[in-house]
This record gives sequence, C-alpha cells and structure tokens, in this order.
Amino acid sequence: MAQHGVEINALEAIRKVVSEINLQELRGVLTYCLPNPIAFRQRQTVMSHDFIAGGMNKTWPGKPDGSLTERMAYAVWTNLIKDNAEYLIDFHTDFRNSPVWIYYEAFGVSPSVSKEVADKAAHMAQVFGTDLLYLETEPLWEGKTLRGVAFDHGIPSIVAEIGGESHFNHEQIAMAYRGLINVMTDLGMISNQIQLPKKQTIIKWIIDRDKRIARAPNGGIFIPTVTIGDRVSKGESLGYIYSPRTFEKTADVIAPQNGLVFQILENPVVVAGQPVISVPEIIEDLFNY
Ligand SMILES: [Zn+2]
Repeated sequence: MAQHGVEINALEAIRKVVSEINLQELRGVLTYCLPNPIAFRQRQTVMSHDFIAGGMNKTWPGKPDGSLTERMAYAVWTNLIKDNAEYLIDFHTDFRNSPVWIYYEAFGVSPSVSKEVADKAAHMAQVFGTDLLYLETEPLWEGKTLRGVAFDHGIPSIVAEIGGESHFNHEQIAMAYRGLINVMTDLGMISNQIQLPKKQTIIKWIIDRDKRIARAPNGGIFIPTVTIGDRVSKGESLGYIYSPRTFEKTADVIAPQNGLVFQILENPVVVAGQPVISVPEIIEDLFNY
C-alpha cells in the first residue's frame, strides 16, 4: 500500500482487518507493507530527493544498485513478493471524488501469463466486490508496475484504487475492508461471508486516451452535467464551459464514445484541451443475485 506516499486509505482498512484476525484460525499468511516509507513520511506521491515520473510504481522489480526508490522496490520484491506471494493486491488511490475500483489485466495482454493466472486475477478482482472493474486490454507503454511485474511472474495480481489521496474517506475505507475480507474468505484464509454488490460493471482500459477521455474545447470554468456511473452515448454533452469574465457558456464537453462516466475533474478551472471526464467503454455487466 502507498507506493505513492499520499495514498493512505488502505492503511485504515488493513489495520481493521489485522486487528480482527484470529491468528489461531488464520490459514496462510497475510503480508502487508509500506514499500515507500520516505515518500509516506514526506506526505508526497514521489519522494522529493529521488524524483521519478510516476514514482515507485514505474520501477518494479527495482534494482539492487539503482536509485533509493529502485533499491527499496528491489528489497520489497525479493524479500516479500517474488518467491513468497501467491496473490497480490496493490492498493492505490485516485482523485478525491473517484469511486472505489479494481484494475486488472486481461488474459493475452502479457504473452508470458497463463490463462490460469489471468483467470485467478479476474476472479479476485470480482470477489473484491467493487461496483467498477477496470480491465486492462492493451499493454502499458512505459515502466513496469508492481502489479504488472508480479502478474508476469505468475502471481495473480490486482490494483485496488480506494478513493482519493491524503485523507481518510471512511465510506471508501469500509469498501476496502470488505474487499480484503471477501478475498481472504474466497481464498480460504478466514471463515466469513462474501458480500458482493448486486451489479458489477467491467469497463475497458485502452491506451489511446483520446478515445476514452473528453477534453475541454476551450479554457474557462467547467461544469459537469453528468455524475460518475452515468451511461452516455458518443456525441452527448457531458457538461459545459463558461467564461469567468462574461459568465457566458462558451462550449459543450462532448462524450468521445459510448461508455460509462468514470472520472470527473475536480478543479473546475480548466485550460483548452485539458482532460475533464473519462468515459471508458462498457465491456459487461455482472449480476450477482
Ligand atoms: Zn498510486
């Protein structure tokens, strides 16, 4: 958790799970760590004296003789994960008003990963129990994430994005707690009830941002007219821009494709061309009851 030092919501969820575990009844091992304690202490996404674009999550599996961040990643990878982990959940956070969601990789994206490992990751993603599942359908273009490296190594792995950074959101922490309990129950580590939402929606991650992201046609003040989870059609207006000088509406923000409103920019002051809403395509709805 908190490879990016400000992504702290999972800390509370894991604390609650750990405090409730009966060690006499636990089957298997639950390992957790703060892999980037310096950025965490600095309350920064990336540690200030080893700046890496994208931070620690672009450095896996690390390097024994690399920068401090790369050395820390290497230590975590070799001591805790590489030959020890059977499953992996990498906890992050997104924007402050983001929903809680799971990111995972489709079978076939990484050629070295077996169908069995991909199926286990997909199952874990669903069992975690978020309303939204974001499926990577094309390879990332740069660096290797912890999830990606672990997955390539044959460890079923998912990323859990738990709300926003630098604050505790207790509703979302409760979802992360529930997710961990669900996964541990499903793996037979603890005896509990798996609780899933009635409907989960799988949305499609693709590289080409212009296909999935609506941009501000011009600068000004951005007012969304949709909310997260809305289903929209290509060409539909998702909001508008007004001038902070005249208060006149100057442009509509248009959906780039059919999809689900996934992320909405928080700060309403925008410049021309700025991404303001992401609208990934919907792959499938899963119904649990
Ligand atoms: Zn992160």
